[in-house]
Amino acid sequence: MTLPLPTSQPVGVYHFRLGDLVISTINDGYLEVTLDVMVNIPRAEAEALQAAGFRRAPPRITFNAFLVNDGKSLTLIDTGCGTVGGPAAGALGRHLAALGVAPEAIKTILITHMHIDHISGLVDGAGKPVFPAAEVVAHEDEAKFWLGEPPPGASEGLVEAFAIAKRGVGPYRERLRTVKGGEVAPGITLHPAPGHTPGHSGYRVDSGRESLLIWGDIVHMPGVQFANPTAGMAFDADAAQAEATRRRIFAMAASERLRIAGMHLDFPACGHVARAGSGYAFIPEVWSPHP
Ligand SMILES: [Zn+2]
Repeated sequence: MTLPLPTSQPVGVYHFRLGDLVISTINDGYLEVTLDVMVNIPRAEAEALQAAGFRRAPPRITFNAFLVNDGKSLTLIDTGCGTVGGPAAGALGRHLAALGVAPEAIKTILITHMHIDHISGLVDGAGKPVFPAAEVVAHEDEAKFWLGEPPPGASEGLVEAFAIAKRGVGPYRERLRTVKGGEVAPGITLHPAPGHTPGHSGYRVDSGRESLLIWGDIVHMPGVQFANPTAGMAFDADAAQAEATRRRIFAMAASERLRIAGMHLDFPACGHVARAGSGYAFIPEVWSPHP
């Protein structure tokens, strides 16, 4: 007799409580990459940090989105890769269905930035909107940049990134709300965090005495960038600004003991940041059977 070996987790969802709310990390999958995606760090140092953390080689970038449930409404933060992120990504829709959340139940979608792995889940394989009742919210600079024309002399990759942004967000233009900051949904405030993209933003969620900063793409490679916050990504729009933002937010999270969550942190992708040596360390939240 043979037993089938499990090939995937039952469901990539983790619920945790924040004040009166329940927030759900929803895993969208991952992309296998090489360390060539990293800049501003010697290759040998990145490899050594990955090895010291017992990380896979080649490394993987995790994709997550977050769902905020306040007992009255559901707010989704980012939407994963949809149908364009390769075979190991695009699980958001399946995981929402497993939770019993119908696409029409989501009334607000907050976007951290308009890269492929954050906005592509807005549309299906035919480019049609997945969320019929949702308003989409993003920073004004982000919409202005990606929904405009690529700058003259843009690389092939950047031109493609513009097309991908328009494919995901374009069908929502009539229900796109752009903001510069402030409260964007009850208890949720946009926190500008530019550098990775021009209007890259985190969202700070407050309930009762508890706060959480869902920080978007402050970190892509947790095994490297907490220890060495200088390390950036080849696809940062402005690597120097991205580093300054990363250092500012790490310092804030560490000194305020602010709980954070991130799109590319290891599932369930929430926890705390602490100072460690000349850099920082991520202390992941401990799994609990009840949120
Ligand atoms: Zn990303």
